[in-house]
Amino acid sequence: MQQILEAVEAGASGDDIANLPLPDHYRAAYVQRSDVEMFAGMPSAEKDPTKSLHIGDVPTPELAPDEVFVAVMASSINFNTVWTSIFEPLPTFGFLDRLGKESEWGARHARDFHVVGSDAAGVVVRVGSAVRNWKPGDRVTVHCNSVDDQDPSAHDDSMLAANQRIWGFETNYGGLADLALVKANQLMPKPTHLTWEEAAVNALCHSTSYRMLVGRHGAQMKQGDSVLIWGATGGIGGYAVQLVQNGGGTPIGVVSSPDKVELLNRIGVEAVIDRKAEGYRFWSDEHTQDEGEWRRFGKRVRELNGGEDPDIVFEHPGRQTMGASIFACKRGGTVVTCAATSGYMVEFDNRHFWMKLKRLISSHFANYAEAYAANRLIDQGRIQPVMSAVHPLTAVGEAARSVHRNEHEGKIGVLCLAPREGLGIDDPEKRARIGEDKITAFRG
Ligand code: NAP
Repeated sequence: MQQILEAVEAGASGDDIANLPLPDHYRAAYVQRSDVEMFAGMPSAEKDPTKSLHIGDVPTPELAPDEVFVAVMASSINFNTVWTSIFEPLPTFGFLDRLGKESEWGARHARDFHVVGSDAAGVVVRVGSAVRNWKPGDRVTVHCNSVDDQDPSAHDDSMLAANQRIWGFETNYGGLADLALVKANQLMPKPTHLTWEEAAVNALCHSTSYRMLVGRHGAQMKQGDSVLIWGATGGIGGYAVQLVQNGGGTPIGVVSSPDKVELLNRIGVEAVIDRKAEGYRFWSDEHTQDEGEWRRFGKRVRELNGGEDPDIVFEHPGRQTMGASIFACKRGGTVVTCAATSGYMVEFDNRHFWMKLKRLISSHFANYAEAYAANRLIDQGRIQPVMSAVHPLTAVGEAARSVHRNEHEGKIGVLCLAPREGLGIDDPEKRARIGEDKITAFRG
């Protein structure tokens, strides 16, 4: 891999890169099948990803005709790596075993290790015999929607495909490694003004937020809409805020500290709720929700939103907030959800839902067209990476632990082959035009 890194740094041609030998093993972050019971009986919050995530060599798999190998310069931590590393809600080896039974190529994934990671930026080093649009030397970002294009159910909206999977979560050989195995239809051009690590943090979270808010399968936000965004400085929330601003809407951000309020103010969000400081307790005990708290919250949102309820609620905390989200959304408005960080058995008062003709839309990652459109917004400099910190691959456990404990803001970048931060910018003039301050706002 060192030879490949040197070739990339020296600006070697695609042909030269294609002629370099690939190693038969490579460095990766992985969990082990033998560890899946290690946290049995512990409360979720105490499960520590530093104990279950290992860094070491794994064997290089064979390349299928529709796949490419990417030399990964940088990757990022996503919440799905937290789930994999604490073996919740299920050990991900079950996904790999199911994939293993599907086909000869699928069998490569059913191993006793699971290489995690669902984001990457890097350089294509090999392409399979059926790959047409990409070649060795291409500088790329990778989105995580892995689908079989010979399945008819994948051809309207690939997120509805029977065999749709999230790469590096439901498949093996993910992005937190020096080498990644991906389908050619996961590739997108690397935004030319960004460093490797800035380019690596966007695809999963930004594409998810794009589909939720902008795409025709989501809330289809219009100019002028107001959008209540939970976790507005988190991974998906940080992109949601910018998509609303960029689309001519008004974000109302909910966060949990004065620092996060300040960060939102700095990027131009005026309407912000510090949920901790204002002390909302939507559940008075484990079984009972407090409608008075929903009303207090709804009133506060309205105060910040010119007297109106929000057109859209961007929902993902799940159990703790869904009742309040459904309540606070405007008559005829839309709640769009993609997750349940605080618990998936959600509860809301159906009377507030049906009598006020609200809609609840489920969303999950993004299809290729949506991910590509989201990547284009990053490349145009209209949406900025929300990277707040960068760690080496060797510290992936610590990085995942800080996401698990909600100690981070935005996204955490991870350096894989890239020896240090700041490398990989192809168009410095464009970067200067967009503005260093804007690009690095989350690092402040
Ligand atoms: P993240 O960076 O950890 O951000 C989540 C934010 O949620 C936090 O910043 C926190 O903000 C807020 N939050 C956490 N617990 C909360 C609670 N009990 N009440 C209110 N707010 C709470 O994670 P992320 O990357 O944005 O992902 C968020 C969720 O979406 C995760 O569960 C992830 O697995 C899921 N996800 C799903 C998809 C998909 O395709 N379906 C894609 C990406 C992510 P404050 O503490 O500041 O309020």
